Amino acid sequence: MRNAYLTIDDTPSPHTDALTDFLVSRNVPAILYVRGDMMEQHGTQSVVRAIQKGFVIGNHLYNHYRSSEISFEDVCAEILQTQKMIDACYAQAGTNQPLKLIRFPHLDRGSGGWIVNYDAYDEPHRSEIIKLFSDGINIDLKKPSEELFNHQRKIARFLKEEGFVPAPFNGVTLPWYRGEVAESIDALYTYSTSDWMLLDRHKGKWPYKTLDDLKRKIDEDKNLNDPTSAQIILGHDKDEIENVLPDLVDHLLRKQFNFKGVA
Ligand SMILES: [Zn+2]
Repeated sequence: MRNAYLTIDDTPSPHTDALTDFLVSRNVPAILYVRGDMMEQHGTQSVVRAIQKGFVIGNHLYNHYRSSEISFEDVCAEILQTQKMIDACYAQAGTNQPLKLIRFPHLDRGSGGWIVNYDAYDEPHRSEIIKLFSDGINIDLKKPSEELFNHQRKIARFLKEEGFVPAPFNGVTLPWYRGEVAESIDALYTYSTSDWMLLDRHKGKWPYKTLDDLKRKIDEDKNLNDPTSAQIILGHDKDEIENVLPDLVDHLLRKQFNFKGVA
């Protein structure tokens, strides 16, 4: 059995209740990273229900902006505003948030596509994590300016001051999972399902075009198929692709993954 943590971004959607019911039926815990704008649009009832069903809620900011493209003050406001809504959900569910968790939209932690300082990693790990964190897409990877690095460091300090903690993802032994990647307060991942590539507006543009492609990715991914390491798996709670993640979770279960909770 290989351990895995399921992390789901962009909750809530009109399908959150169905998704969490499905995961409960499969005995699969997950962290749901919620967006302020989606809670405003769809209401918070399905988030409250998720808490009551034992899911852990994390902060995915308010408007899904890229943190490198907005001011430090705006990043802080996005985090605080969303956290307030999360706190209200926990209060309504009659329980306390076990851990203050966060993941940035697009993984943008303040310095754009340069998620961690890639130059601190030797090849081939450098290329591997660049590919992983850009989800297999060729993006323009210019090393950020010192100013942008400072922006990222300020944001990381703010997270610490606000009491955010790294999710306790234990047992990840992948060789590049060290340094900044392993120490990050905000959640990164070791495997992306790339489920978002099946959204209408993205479909056909990226390497994975069908559900079968996404299953093949699971079958073939080198990181994911490391027999010794735990995995942090990324999926999405989104309209249009609401049937994709459940299918992929079943595919992972058939491959003997054992999903663990963080609280
Ligand atoms: Zn997102």
